[in-house]
Amino acid sequence: MARYTGSVCRLCRREGTKLFLKGDRCYGPKCAVAARPNTIPGEHAQARQRKQSEYGMQLREKQKAKRAYGVLETQFHRYFETAERQKGITGENLLILLERRLDNVVYRMGFGASRPQARQIVRHGHILVNGKKVDIPSYLVDVNDVITVREKSAEADHFKALREGTGRVIPKWLTVDNANLKATVAAMPAREDVDLTLQEQLIVELYSR
Ligand code: SF4
Repeated sequence: MARYTGSVCRLCRREGTKLFLKGDRCYGPKCAVAARPNTIPGEHAQARQRKQSEYGMQLREKQKAKRAYGVLETQFHRYFETAERQKGITGENLLILLERRLDNVVYRMGFGASRPQARQIVRHGHILVNGKKVDIPSYLVDVNDVITVREKSAEADHFKALREGTGRVIPKWLTVDNANLKATVAAMPAREDVDLTLQEQLIVELYSR
């Protein structure tokens, strides 16, 4: 399946929750979900919403996670298989793997206005991990990894503005030094650090059918 390229707000409305795909707009009154909560787009949508089967709910939850993190099915399923092999609760492991993606880290440290923008920043080679360029959005960070902005890129207006601070709430597993455009992974993310409304158990049930 190809990556969705239409209006991203429609995806949030479809899922009935904020997926934070549009940057600043997501935090203001112009957010389509904030303006019209509990409405999903499309003809017959209301009827669909009323009669959702258990399978339908599980499927929607998976779609929501995939859309929020911008991950396609094959890779998402691979994350699930890895999460299953790890110690602990599979659903939580899955979310932690998604949080550790470099594009997500760039977003959570406040250097991208949204996860899609953060992915572009990584893809365009602006980000270094431990001093080496990493342009793979799915790269998984580890504890003590240091994320910085390439010297040449740091001169761009986008990054210069970040030196003043971003006003974003930084999760406790990241330590951000805005003046130096730098973040350190202080710990592994925990379930409570996830900033999205997700019921990961439904995803586990779906894949366990
Ligand atoms: Fe659009 Fe962001 Fe609101 Fe989603 S959260 S509907 S992307 S403004």
